[in-house]
Amino acid sequence: MSRMIGLILFWLAALPVVAQPLPMRLPQGVTPMSYHLGLTIDPDQPSHHGEISIAVNLQAASRTIRLNATDIKVSSAVLEMAGQRYRATAKVADNNLLDLIFAKPVPAGQGELKMAFSGQIDNKGSQGLFRQKEGGDWYAFTQFEATSARRAFPVFDEPGWKVPWTLALTIPAKLMAVANTAVVKEVALANGMKRVEFLTTPPLPSYLVAFGVGPFDILDAGKVGNTPLRFITPRGRASEARYAASMTPSIVTRLETYFGMAYPYGKLDVMALPITLNFGAMENPGLVTFAARILLAKPTAETVNFKRRFVEVQAHELAHQWFGDYVTMAWWDDLWLNESFASWMGDKITAQVAPEWRFETGTQNARARAMHTDRLLSARRIHQPVSDVESLESAFDSITYSKGQAVLAMFETWLGADRFQAGVRRYMASHAWGNATGDDFVAAIADGDARLASAFKSFTEQAGIPRLSVTLACQGEPTLTLSQSRFLPKGSVAAPASLWQIPMTVRSPAGKMQVLLTEASASLALPDATCPAWVEANVNGAGYYRPVYSAGELSKLMVKANLSVSELLAHLDDAQALTESGDLPLADALSLALQYAQHPRREVVDAALDILNKVEPLLGANQGAAYADLWQRAFGARARALGLLDRATDSDDDRLTRARWVERLLDIGRDSALRAQAKELAQAWLRQPKSLDAASRGLVLRSAAIDGDKGFFDALVRAVVLSPDRAERADIYSALARFGAPDLALAAQQLWLSPQHDIREIMQSGRDRHSNEAARESQFRFVKDNFAAISKRLPKESMARFPQFFAGFCSAKKAAEVEQFFTPRLAADEGGASYLKQSLERIRLCAVYRDAQHASLSGFLSSH
Ligand SMILES: [Zn+2]
Repeated sequence: MSRMIGLILFWLAALPVVAQPLPMRLPQGVTPMSYHLGLTIDPDQPSHHGEISIAVNLQAASRTIRLNATDIKVSSAVLEMAGQRYRATAKVADNNLLDLIFAKPVPAGQGELKMAFSGQIDNKGSQGLFRQKEGGDWYAFTQFEATSARRAFPVFDEPGWKVPWTLALTIPAKLMAVANTAVVKEVALANGMKRVEFLTTPPLPSYLVAFGVGPFDILDAGKVGNTPLRFITPRGRASEARYAASMTPSIVTRLETYFGMAYPYGKLDVMALPITLNFGAMENPGLVTFAARILLAKPTAETVNFKRRFVEVQAHELAHQWFGDYVTMAWWDDLWLNESFASWMGDKITAQVAPEWRFETGTQNARARAMHTDRLLSARRIHQPVSDVESLESAFDSITYSKGQAVLAMFETWLGADRFQAGVRRYMASHAWGNATGDDFVAAIADGDARLASAFKSFTEQAGIPRLSVTLACQGEPTLTLSQSRFLPKGSVAAPASLWQIPMTVRSPAGKMQVLLTEASASLALPDATCPAWVEANVNGAGYYRPVYSAGELSKLMVKANLSVSELLAHLDDAQALTESGDLPLADALSLALQYAQHPRREVVDAALDILNKVEPLLGANQGAAYADLWQRAFGARARALGLLDRATDSDDDRLTRARWVERLLDIGRDSALRAQAKELAQAWLRQPKSLDAASRGLVLRSAAIDGDKGFFDALVRAVVLSPDRAERADIYSALARFGAPDLALAAQQLWLSPQHDIREIMQSGRDRHSNEAARESQFRFVKDNFAAISKRLPKESMARFPQFFAGFCSAKKAAEVEQFFTPRLAADEGGASYLKQSLERIRLCAVYRDAQHASLSGFLSSH
């Protein structure tokens, strides 16, 4: 750490009003080469201060150096160069940019840029440098992706600047500090403080720098290969990392095997954050951070859902140690190089670590999730230019994560896993410790095959889903005609013409064929000697396209072909989507759902029930009872057999099915037997809180709340205030959000504004449970009436996402109301405009969908 000389004190003025937004990118003329950063942090205090020394290279003489800082007060700035000291004045350019202005131009060359500064430690959000109180103690943490390092110190805050960092933290002597690298030494200071110095890091972009300060507990998990592995938890809770510690080594080992190289960093610490907003975990090299609810569980709370979630997220974050950390995207437009890969690799590794969970079908979930967004005209491309903070904030979406995952899986299937893996290893080797672009990756995978590179880019460089019409003709030799266009739900207009180069595998009774469809339309001679009984145009569901079979062909295929589970999942999701585009009557999709709800595989039942689920917004005023009957027919017997309580004899599939669907049957399916059981169990729990285990508690309480009375509501409010356990509080808050009686629904919303409750906890546990129009309506009214008070209690980054809560509305009128209310209120919140635009498109499409399928739905409900 460098000592500061020549202090010039001044205050930063309030933000100037700028007519034209300044460019997001920093000028390229000044390059950071390394950082020495010293910060003084006492988590009990709301502010921090520090000194930073940045080795810089100036390509040309200049009077100004621009870097990033947000709400940082710079008290001195000096550039030391060739024995000279040049003092600068710091001036805020906008909320992201800071200009250091020198009295006269400083020459080109290398120097040390030294600043002293101070800033605020946020106690509301979980971005930048923030602090949280847990069990009576304050802790300080960081979350810098994407552009929040600048809230902690002045920095060249772009991913392309990947350099070594040497960090020292001055903290109260009784606390502990952790960071990306190991501690090299601790020095006792006066006033009960100490300085903790860390090893210099390998090259890191600023968004991956991380540290934590507090009275931590540590679970030492020994070594994985040569890497020391530890879990960092709030005081007294190390034992809750037991499951995480037991599973992490095999995840690391399998990743090392896939990449053919050791874990790239000197140590692996995994740290729990008490509460996070808008993210679950973060891949900081050597110090992965996790929302505590995903990482920690008491022995009795290690439910199958907890275990699956932890392994899936840990595999994702550890895959990032290679994809993202070791090789980093050059700029945020290629964020998919991080997130698509980590999602694809995370599911692959989870499937290996715990084969009994059958995560190989995770690609189908990703495909379905992605396509639900990608059908919109407002959908982003996988590779989307990022020129402002708005477009960056909206880049962390299901296109970047899930579409990217599904597209990678499609090309992996088409090329073969070995060839794909060789490409991944080539990519890692040629960009070791550096930065790379999407083009670099595609080149490494294609390995000189221009057709393949161009096919890949036809999916990353344009938005949308190919709609593939599949026609079998048997007049002469059996021929399949394939024609592509863009898949669009009814009500979408004026989409640009698109053409993809689609890698497909087609199967008929005579065998499989690989085809690369590069034209709008092509014919394919099938190997069958006579007219085949069926043709599968998307083998194993691996294709990122929606096949549309000519009349009768789909049902022949579903009946006669021996379809894999992945194929069934793709067909069921396609069937639902084709009701939106008008290619399939809703009644046909609902018949399929009823049929496959009885399937022996849990994943298929999930997909079938998802079709029923998506019908809810389309219902007319008098169709609730018929819809309840439909749920009963599809799932009633199974739900009652599962019941509400976890049983020792249950399989993991039983537990997952119960957690996901029994509440739905009880609510939408109006199941009186289960409702009565829920009430009885909830009353017993109020008398004796240990009477429900963690696997059953949330489900029982929510179920009892659906038609619960004021007495039960008040009892839950008393219980949530007294509970010291965040997991239990989350279950209770989720129940409070489920009361159906209008006065109690309103009372639940008023908890958001009560000083006795943490709105962040309520938002995390209950906000997405609007299962019907009345609940959505009541929630919207409350938000409209109290928006200013809500935004005072939540960090800005959470406000931008509010329109998403109301994307389940289904009328043009509601779309207009949502638009009118949020447009002026979110104009200044990063990402707000994008979330609003997509939510409005969803609402308007739903209105068209409801009208288009009304007759089919009514006919189906009255005849079943
Ligand atoms: Zn990620």
